[in-house]
Amino acid sequence: MQTLQSYVDGRWVGRDAGKALLSAVNGQVVAVTHGEALDFGAVVAHARGVGLSALLALDFQQRAACLKALAKYLMARKEELYVVSAHTGATRADGWVDIEGGIGTLFAYASIGSNEFPSGNVVHEGPALPLGKAGHFSGSHILVPRRGLALHINAFNFPVWGLLEKFAPSFLAGMPCVIKPATSTSYLSEALVRMMMDSGLLPAGSLQLVIGATGDLLDRLDGQDMVTFTGSATTAHLLRAHAGVIRNAVPFNAEADSLNCAILGPDVEPGSEEFSLFVKEVVREMTAKAGQKCTAIRRALVPRRHLDAVAQALRERLSKVTVGDPAVEGVRMGALASHEQRVDVAANVQALMRDAEVVFGERDGFAPRGEGVDKGAFFAPTLLLCRDAQRATAPHEIEAFGPVSTLMAYDDLDQALDLAARGRGSLVATLVTHDPQVAASVIPIAAAWHGRLLVLDREAAAESTGHGSPLPMLKHGGPGRAGGGEELGGARAVKHFLQRAAIQGSPTMLAAITGEYVRGAAVHEPVLHPFRYHFEDLRIGMSLLTHRRTVTEADIVAFGGVSGDYFYMHFDEIAARASTFGKRIAHGYFVLSAAAGLFVSPAEGPVLANYGLDTLRFVNPVGIGDTIRARLTCKRKVDRQKTDAKGVGQGVVVWEVQVTNQDDELVASYDILTLVAKKA
Ligand code: NDP
Repeated sequence: MQTLQSYVDGRWVGRDAGKALLSAVNGQVVAVTHGEALDFGAVVAHARGVGLSALLALDFQQRAACLKALAKYLMARKEELYVVSAHTGATRADGWVDIEGGIGTLFAYASIGSNEFPSGNVVHEGPALPLGKAGHFSGSHILVPRRGLALHINAFNFPVWGLLEKFAPSFLAGMPCVIKPATSTSYLSEALVRMMMDSGLLPAGSLQLVIGATGDLLDRLDGQDMVTFTGSATTAHLLRAHAGVIRNAVPFNAEADSLNCAILGPDVEPGSEEFSLFVKEVVREMTAKAGQKCTAIRRALVPRRHLDAVAQALRERLSKVTVGDPAVEGVRMGALASHEQRVDVAANVQALMRDAEVVFGERDGFAPRGEGVDKGAFFAPTLLLCRDAQRATAPHEIEAFGPVSTLMAYDDLDQALDLAARGRGSLVATLVTHDPQVAASVIPIAAAWHGRLLVLDREAAAESTGHGSPLPMLKHGGPGRAGGGEELGGARAVKHFLQRAAIQGSPTMLAAITGEYVRGAAVHEPVLHPFRYHFEDLRIGMSLLTHRRTVTEADIVAFGGVSGDYFYMHFDEIAARASTFGKRIAHGYFVLSAAAGLFVSPAEGPVLANYGLDTLRFVNPVGIGDTIRARLTCKRKVDRQKTDAKGVGQGVVVWEVQVTNQDDELVASYDILTLVAKKA
C-alpha cells in the first residue's frame, strides 16, 4: 500500500501510515496519508530562505520559460496522471478538464509571463505622472515580488487544475509555494508534485507539498505571505478569521461555495436552438465531474410558461446519462470523489426538498455500471423543481456539491435577476438568449453579483467553452458567498501575488528604479546611432535627437496622393479655416512617417523588425511651414530568451518617440516596438 509523502524542506517525508483514502469507484484503499507530523517552522524557513532566493535569482522572463518547460514535461506524462485520476471517480472527460486543463493553464501563464512581463523583477505600472510644473518631480507605481510564501489550500474536486492554476501565477510572481491539497484526493496531487520535482526544472524551495493537516502553519505567516483557498464557505470563514491572518494582515483569497444559475431568456421558445442549448448546458453542468464543480449550475431559472417543457426536456436528456465506473465503455458520469461527499450530498438534497420536489432522481433507473460499484460513491443525477422560487429559501442557500440542480420559474426579467441575486454572489451565471436587448438589460445588473457571465446563443454555441470552465485569461471568482476572491484573469492573476508601491522622485530616479525610460529623465546620446547597437549593448535612455524638417504644402499634397486621404482639414482651405485649427494642417500619419524618415538609420543592422506602435497621440497640429524634429529614446528592453530561425538571439526593444515643432512643443508621441538582434 502506497504511503503518500509530503515534500517539505527539500525532501520527501512520511513513512508511517495515517488515514486510508478510498477509491471513489469501488471503495478499495488507493493510498494512505503519512502519520508523521510536519515541522512547519522548517517549511516556512525553507520557502522564505532557499525558495525565495532561488526564485528571485531568476526574472519574470526566466520563470515564464521555466513554466513552459514544465508544462511540456507534464504534458508528455499526462497518461500517468489519468491512471491515478480514475480513482477519484473522474471520467476521461472529467480528467481532461483537471489534467490537461491544469497543464494548459501552465502553458497559458508561460505565455502571459513572456508577453506581458519585463526582464528583471520590477513591473512598472506606468506611465509616470508629472507632479510638478517644471517636470522635475514625477510619480508612478511599481509591482515587486513579495518577500514571503504563498500557501495554497485546495479543494478535492480538481487535484491537478486546482494546484496548477494557483501555482502558475504565484511562481511567475516569484513566490515560493506551499501547497496543501484536500486530503481525500491528495494521492493525485502527490503524483503531480512528484512529477514536477522529478522534472528537475523547478528552483529549489519553490514548491512544497503538505499531505494532511496544516498544523501551526497559519500561525507562522506574516504580511509578506499570502493564502489562497478553494473549498467550502465554512472553512473559508474559519481561515479568514484566523487570529494570525487578521493580526498580520495576510492577504487571503477565497473561492467558496457558489449557487450559480443559468437563466433561460424570455425570448426563447421550446423547439428553438437556444432552448436545446439551455437544456444541454444544464445537463452537462449537472453531470460533468458528477456535478462537483464550484461553477456548476445549481439553479436553472426559466420563464413560468416554459417550466413544464423545460422539465420534460431535462428529464429526457438526464435519462440518457449512463453512470458508473469510468473505465466501463459508454459511462458518461462517474462517482463523487469520496463516500463522505455522498453522505453530504444526500443530506443536502433532503434539505433542498423542504422547498422542492424531485423531477428526476434515483428512482428513474439509477443503476451504476461496473464491478464493485456498490461500494463506490455514486450518486444519481437529481433534478429538483421549486414552484415558488420567491418564497423558497433552501435552493438559494444550500449547495449540494454533486449532480444536483433545482429548476425554478420566473415571471419577468426583474424577478429572474432578483432570484439570481438571492445566491448572494456567485462565480458564474449563464444567460441563454438570442436577443441582444435581453443580454444588454440583464448582464450589467447580474454582473454585480457574478464573477463571470456567459451569454449563450446559436452563434456563440459552436465555439463556447461552456458555463463551467474558468479560463486562464478570464477572471475566476465571485463576490459575497462565492468568497469575494479573484483568481486567473491573465496578467491580473500574477499581479495579485505582487506588492504594489507608489514611487515619487525625479524622472531620472524613476527611470533608474523602473528600468524604463520615463519622460523627462536624463538621456544619453551615444557615439553611434541607437539602431546600430546590438540588444546587449543598448542602454535605457540611449537617445537620438534628429535634424529638422520644414513641412511644406508639397508634402501634404504628396502624402494625400500616396495615401488617398483627401480629408478637408488637409485639402480644403475654406473648411480648414473654419475649423478649430483655423488653417490646413498636415496628416497625423504624415508626421509619423516624416518622423521615421528623420530617425531611421537605413543601413542593414541589428534592428530586425518594427512590429508595432503603442500609445500614439497627436498632441498639437503641424501646419504648412512648421519645422519638426524627433527624439528617439530607448525606453524598455525585454529579453524573451528567443532566437530566430537561424539561431540568432533577439530581444524586444521599445523606443519612445517624441516629435516637436520649432517652439519645442510636443506635436506627437508614441512608442515603437522593435526586435533587435543579440551579438552572434
Ligand atoms: P473544505 O472547505 O472542507 O476543504 C477545503 C480545503 O481546506 C481542503 O484542502 C481541506 O483539507 C482544507 N481545510 C479544511 N479545514 C482546514 C483548516 N482548519 N486548516 C487548514 N486547511 C483546512 O471543503 P471540501 O473540499 O471538503 O468540500 C466540502 C464542501 O466545499 C463541498 O461539499 C462543497 O460544498 C464545497 N466546495 C466548494 C468548492 C469551490 O470551488 N467553491 C470546491 C470544492 C468544494 P482537508 O481535506 O485535509 O480537510
